[in-house]
Amino acid sequence: MDYRVRISPRGRRVRLNLSARDGLTIVIPRGFDARRIPAILETRKGWIEKHLRRFSEETRFIAGNPPDILPETIDLPALGEIWRIAYRSTGVQEVVEVKAVGPGALVVSGAVDDHAACRSVLKRWLRCRAAERLAPLLARLAEENGFRYDRVTIRSQKTRWGSCSVRKTISLNCHLLFLPSDVVRYVLLHELCHTVFMDHSEKFWLLLDGFEPDGKVMRRRMRAGWKDLPAWLS
Ligand SMILES: [Zn+2]
Repeated sequence: MDYRVRISPRGRRVRLNLSARDGLTIVIPRGFDARRIPAILETRKGWIEKHLRRFSEETRFIAGNPPDILPETIDLPALGEIWRIAYRSTGVQEVVEVKAVGPGALVVSGAVDDHAACRSVLKRWLRCRAAERLAPLLARLAEENGFRYDRVTIRSQKTRWGSCSVRKTISLNCHLLFLPSDVVRYVLLHELCHTVFMDHSEKFWLLLDGFEPDGKVMRRRMRAGWKDLPAWLS
């Protein structure tokens, strides 16, 4: 068993400390005979093993979450776009900014060593891009098919691609940009059909199937889309 020994000048008893960072530490009073330690550990073995196991799981969780990944490219199948990203450290600037410098070219500048800040500006950029492109797409689909909605908001929901409120506000997930365009169209039509039928009744599905006979396949691809989202988003 791995452990460290620390002598506590004022301690009177032997104590066992467990931490996710340091593992097991035995704290002994000054003058304590260290040869007695193994016997003490033996009596506390069950407790130690149980907690060490829990700590190692926690450490693994902390280490793996969030993944420290910065994307080099952002591939947006919904729009047929691939954006290349250059990271430029400008030193003086404390903030991080993102700017489109040409078709398919983004520059992230500022304190780019701060990866969390880089990811957060890229996420904000993604929401803007989604607003620029998904909102007009929804408007066109509504117009072409005779739907009316109140307004559209772009969000970054964790569990759904879109929603429609009783007031006919349609919310679209900006991560839709990572799905193929025909699946995006299907999601948008799904929400537009909710402006007519709020529930998932038979009438709702009949209406939606009128636009997309292969709904079953589409729904499977929608669900599969979650696991294709790039890791830097999480
Ligand atoms: Zn629905």
